[in-house]
Amino acid sequence: MKLTRLLLTAAATAFVSAAAYADGTVGIAMPTQSSARWISDGNSMVEQFNAAGYDTILQYAEDDIPNQLAQIENMITNGVDVLVIAAIDGTTLSNALENAHFADIKVIAYDRLIRDSAHVDYYATFDNFKVGVQQATSLVDGLKERFGDGPYNVELFGGSPDDNNAYFFYNGAMSVLDPLIADGTVNIVSGQMGMETVGTLRWDGAVAQARMDNLLSAHYTDAQVHGVLAPYDGLSIGIISSLKGVGYGSGDQAMPIVTGQDAELRSVKSMLAGEQYSTVFKDTRELARVTVGMVDALIEGGEPEINDTSTYNNGVKIIPSYLLEPVSVDLSNWEEVIIGSGYYTMDEVQ
Ligand code: BGC
Repeated sequence: MKLTRLLLTAAATAFVSAAAYADGTVGIAMPTQSSARWISDGNSMVEQFNAAGYDTILQYAEDDIPNQLAQIENMITNGVDVLVIAAIDGTTLSNALENAHFADIKVIAYDRLIRDSAHVDYYATFDNFKVGVQQATSLVDGLKERFGDGPYNVELFGGSPDDNNAYFFYNGAMSVLDPLIADGTVNIVSGQMGMETVGTLRWDGAVAQARMDNLLSAHYTDAQVHGVLAPYDGLSIGIISSLKGVGYGSGDQAMPIVTGQDAELRSVKSMLAGEQYSTVFKDTRELARVTVGMVDALIEGGEPEINDTSTYNNGVKIIPSYLLEPVSVDLSNWEEVIIGSGYYTMDEVQ
């Protein structure tokens, strides 16, 4: 009965998926389908929730905040038992979560922390500070490998300032780079540093590409860029286009070391083509598994498994979290990590 009602009332874009005998319904709000990782997240969750006996409503908001709010409100009206939310803007959901709370709906923040609300029950994510450490460590390794001892000319890019993760990635990376900037090994030629200056709204690759174009024309007509800290594969691809546009990666202009995150297919292919240097693999199947386990415990009345009770203060309280391990990937280990884990097949990357 409940499922029929859901099917009739869920918005047209919702993907409703049913288990044979449902133990409950989970509303899954994802940010966008423009990045492959969120599609994998959504698919893995639907598959694993259905296998565990739950119905699901999966919705993508295409990076539009009012759209995501409307989707969440709809899920609440439709009587879901639990909400799993990867927020577009982690600070805009307080009212919606208040409504969820009054309707006795539990909330799990998925990958991105939801800020400024007491009504977030658990947080399933990766060790986000470590992601940043891995990105900067790989940048430095690549710089040494391709350009010798330095000093190196480097530019920094940050993620979306409305995504709590972006600060963790940036701070993790700077924990590695700050000492090298201080001793002169790394030179930020533009002088542009700090999330307020280097952040990239909505993680938009076109915005990163335009900023790289500007950096190149303003600061690199006489100097060579050796490395670019990029926190997400979608930005890396835009930055690489910009670099190629002025001749990097051809003739005697070596491609700078460009990092990334998510092991998106385009970026794995770019690595194999000798363009992007590295990425950080975060197994979305594992994140889905942790999340399904949390929901199961919440519904069955058990204690969700957590491994961190101190890192993620959302401005109101510390959210009990489960942090998975990210894996730094470059040409030395991509096959073992990406193909070996079955994340992609060899056919897909070639
Ligand atoms: C996620 C990253 C992703 C980025 C852009 C972050 O919140 O943790 O995996 O690259 O959003 O989608």
